[in-house]
Amino acid sequence: MRVLIIEDEQRLAGNMAEALRDGCKFAVDIASDGEEGLFMAAGNGYDVVLLDLMLPKLPGASLLQQLRRKGVKTPVLVLTARQESESVIRLLNAGADDYLSKPFDLGELIARTKALIRRSQGHATPRLSLADLELDTVAGTVRRAGREVSLTPMEYRVLEYLMHRAGALVSKTELLEHLYDYNWEKFSNVIEVYIAGLRRKVDADAAIKLIHTVRGRGYVLREAAEP
Ligand code: CA
Repeated sequence: MRVLIIEDEQRLAGNMAEALRDGCKFAVDIASDGEEGLFMAAGNGYDVVLLDLMLPKLPGASLLQQLRRKGVKTPVLVLTARQESESVIRLLNAGADDYLSKPFDLGELIARTKALIRRSQGHATPRLSLADLELDTVAGTVRRAGREVSLTPMEYRVLEYLMHRAGALVSKTELLEHLYDYNWEKFSNVIEVYIAGLRRKVDADAAIKLIHTVRGRGYVLREAAEP
């Protein structure tokens, strides 16, 4: 999962990014003004946008309006200062999905961000499952047939995305867009390595294989083999 933080207070943005990277294993990008934020958010690879309102160059409320006018459906969580609380209704009506008042607890930010991702992907609970494979997005743990599977952070990132999109064909491009932040793009040719690692750890000992490659098109996580 990949998150965009649009926030001009560098220290706050840095703390949020660290919490989301370390606590959730998310890829995180930071935009420090409204114009840059709109450009990046419209690029579509994000699963959630965290949007400050008071921004240089383009205010958060205008950014949100323009983003929705472009047809971008990415969930947006607005960060409001206390004195802006009367505009919350207007923001929600303009296409924001949730809001959090500053100062906020990072734990609450993480929980709300995960909830927005879960809802946008159509999941009722934070525990995702397929056959006997379970991924708990709160604890960050993976189990196959009840046995805990130990994954590297990047393997977890790939598996979480595939679990969210279970049953759908996910192209390598889509994985790259949703799993890497700007700084990591140069290492992006190793998706196959993570898939191989996941196959070894998740599928190798199981009778039913869940990770399927659709040659030349991408990957599908599902119970049945190729039709
Ligand atoms: Ca600000």
